[in-house]
Amino acid sequence: MMGLAGLPLGLEFTFLDPSPDACAGAVGALVQADFSDTDAFRRLAGSVDVATFDFENVPESSARALQETTPVYPSPEALGACQDRLHEKKLLSSLEIKVPAYHPVSSRTDLLAGLEKLNYPAVLKTRRLGYDGKGQAMIRDQEDLERAWQKLGDFELILEAFVPFEQECSLIGARGIDGDTRFWPLTRNLHVDGILALSLAGGFADALQAAAEDIMRRLLDHFAYVGVLTLEFFVLDGQLMVNEIAPRVHNSGHWTIDGAQTSQFENHLRAISGMPLGSTTVKCEALMFNWIGELPERERLLAIPGVHWHDYGKAARPGRKIGHATLTAVTPTELAANARRLAEAAGGKFPVLLNSIF
Ligand code: AMP
Repeated sequence: MMGLAGLPLGLEFTFLDPSPDACAGAVGALVQADFSDTDAFRRLAGSVDVATFDFENVPESSARALQETTPVYPSPEALGACQDRLHEKKLLSSLEIKVPAYHPVSSRTDLLAGLEKLNYPAVLKTRRLGYDGKGQAMIRDQEDLERAWQKLGDFELILEAFVPFEQECSLIGARGIDGDTRFWPLTRNLHVDGILALSLAGGFADALQAAAEDIMRRLLDHFAYVGVLTLEFFVLDGQLMVNEIAPRVHNSGHWTIDGAQTSQFENHLRAISGMPLGSTTVKCEALMFNWIGELPERERLLAIPGVHWHDYGKAARPGRKIGHATLTAVTPTELAANARRLAEAAGGKFPVLLNSIF
């Protein structure tokens, strides 16, 4: 999607991916290498003007190898800070940004002490390499505790208090090399089994948008950040609490391709290549449906007005995000009506999920 956004800007791409059939190969040269292969990163650095990533688990050492000869945005420092949930929470707390109560866990004794402090229910997570609900377990009682420890006990962990949130949302922002900063509207996110299923653009109070932007500004300034940054929030008692930082374009911002003046992908590329940032104003109502594990029937969905189809060309696997559709509409009423048609046609949990939005 970043490559597709860059071609009209006149940019050319070389992609590095461990998979020989990575879908980015359709829009640029593809170098197949492991993310930990620092020599491959050094070779890549010699052939490009600027480098970036759309996956936060690229090792910081690989980003630093690139940086020896080529500008890397966002910085390897920002990348590294978002790879460990404990460091991330410490950073956020040092910037006076609210996070769920937490306790570091390196042993079973730590886990018991953490539960004593935070109480049930709590969420046990690996500090590193977790995403889409992977590497985490909910602990509601003693039985869950044993199961969670068996599953995750070999890793460095963090225990978080369970947040009985009213909603989840995310803010996506972009900062240019010159410090110019833009934000898209807060996006409401609905997950199924820890994986993003639906993202609805906008609809939040101005005060919450301003509070989210203030929080993100503190992080952008802290890192002198360049590129797109995402914050995932819990909304509790009308207040924001940060769940996670993603130093990259984000799944909850895919609607910006079809629903905003400038997409997150285009603004990320503009930012890292020193171009002026584009307007983040929305063009219409927008709701994104994620295709997880399988694609619904394309023709049936395309018959619904306002459906924009995005097939990533990835092999289908349970739990894997292989595409999405963004539904756009002129009015909220039109969006709700067509969303119901789309949800019925796509099946699964979508019809039920929609009931909590409209
Ligand atoms: P994560 O991978 O940390 O973004 O977690 C995936 C999803 O699990 C989140 O979007 C929430 O729906 C849920 N979740 C994670 N941590 C917590 C928490 N501390 N309290 C409540 N729900 C959580």
